[in-house]
Amino acid sequence: MTLSYDAVADKLASLAKRRGFVFPSSEIYGGAGATWDYGPLGVELKNNVKRAWWRAMVQLRDDIVGLDAAILMHPRVWEASGHVQNFIDPLVECGNCHRRFRLDDLRDGEELIDQWRGGKVDLSDVPCPVCGMRKLADPRRFNLMFKTFVGPVEEEASVAWLRPETAQGIFVNFENVQQSTRRKLPFGIAQVGKSFRNEITPGNLIFRSREFEQMEMQYFCRPEDAPLVFESWLGTRRDWYREYGIRDDLLRFREHAENERAHYAAKAIDIEFRFPFGWKEMEGIHNRTDYDLRRHSEYSGKDLRYFDEAANERFLPYVVETAVGADRAAYALLCAAYDEEPDKEGVRVVLRLHRDLAPYKVAVLPLSKNEKLTPLAREVAVMLRPHLLITYDETQAIGRRYRRQDEIGTPLCVTIDFDSLEDRQVTIRDRDSMAQVRVAIADLVPALRERLGV
Ligand code: ATP
Repeated sequence: MTLSYDAVADKLASLAKRRGFVFPSSEIYGGAGATWDYGPLGVELKNNVKRAWWRAMVQLRDDIVGLDAAILMHPRVWEASGHVQNFIDPLVECGNCHRRFRLDDLRDGEELIDQWRGGKVDLSDVPCPVCGMRKLADPRRFNLMFKTFVGPVEEEASVAWLRPETAQGIFVNFENVQQSTRRKLPFGIAQVGKSFRNEITPGNLIFRSREFEQMEMQYFCRPEDAPLVFESWLGTRRDWYREYGIRDDLLRFREHAENERAHYAAKAIDIEFRFPFGWKEMEGIHNRTDYDLRRHSEYSGKDLRYFDEAANERFLPYVVETAVGADRAAYALLCAAYDEEPDKEGVRVVLRLHRDLAPYKVAVLPLSKNEKLTPLAREVAVMLRPHLLITYDETQAIGRRYRRQDEIGTPLCVTIDFDSLEDRQVTIRDRDSMAQVRVAIADLVPALRERLGV
């Protein structure tokens, strides 16, 4: 890498737009406030991230099953979960420029949060981060959940919330899943889906947005086993990031102090990623105790205790949760993959994405746009398409087209040249090493599969 890592955020922002990974939502209307649309490459990337997570967390394990719960849930769910009461950010408004901030975004924010939690915070000497005036009003409690109404009448009785986390869909289905699958503890339930938070200060592209996707897993176990289960998930999740190309120096664990933990957590460790704009949470691992099942038992009147036949006892399981944002993880994976290296044309930009995550696996490229080459190149593309996600490109010089594929992370290019017309062989070019080998068209599918590990 020749450029400094700090510059990667800007590079990615421009690449994301230029090549069709991510666009601001409703852009022709000036954007819709921290919501994003995934373009043709972005949707492939994000689907691949979700698929890789699902495979590791559900399909390759015999102790975790999947779920896809509705976004709109009974409003009591959010009272039971504590979100109506506690899913609050302290919001501060400047009396001079009227901009709004999260308390922790102000100078000495952590300290201010501590004071706020203690019941009293003094902002008289704190400057506004934008205009610098010391006119910040006292913090207001701001609930991050989006409120809406079910049915035709907008009244309190018909209030619904857009879910701010997917986890509650899992808790309220605990008994359904346990009984329908006849699971015994310990076991987990995993879910991928949209969540919504009315963030006060969204930003950094898809790092923090108001509509995003989460990949969450709740692991139910005996209360006394929760600490060990917690430890083992730390390693399992770190290994997953390693497998998909995040180097150890870009990852760290950070344990939450007692006053920082969410209202439900007995222990919380963030897996932080070194984003170009600093170390930030990518995933949270929480020991949620029996908080959620207990609250849902109380609020719904339904006994959610688990019956352990062997021990002949009934109890509420503890839950260890792993919670990561699909968008945030995709962004981290892009940051980790972004690379530039000098070459004879100046700079070669390479997204060194893991081959399972790369939007396209193979680019089919005739050496030039030539009426003799096109039919064979198209024949190769048609042959490959049912096996691998490919893209076809015949415009511009071949060197430029290789660069275009490197920049979006395509692991392999297949080039059809004039010799191919005679010997029915093509060249496979590797994104990372740029090594080239000749392969018979008849052997191309297995040769590509082998290189891609599929
Ligand atoms: P943060 O402190 O960054 O707001 P959080 O601690 O509120 O995050 P959790 O409630 O633990 O986050 O959610 C689990 C994961 O969901 C986070 O680690 C993050 O990857 C993702 N996530 C949370 N909020 C957002 C958001 N607004 N935009 C994108 N991803 C998010």
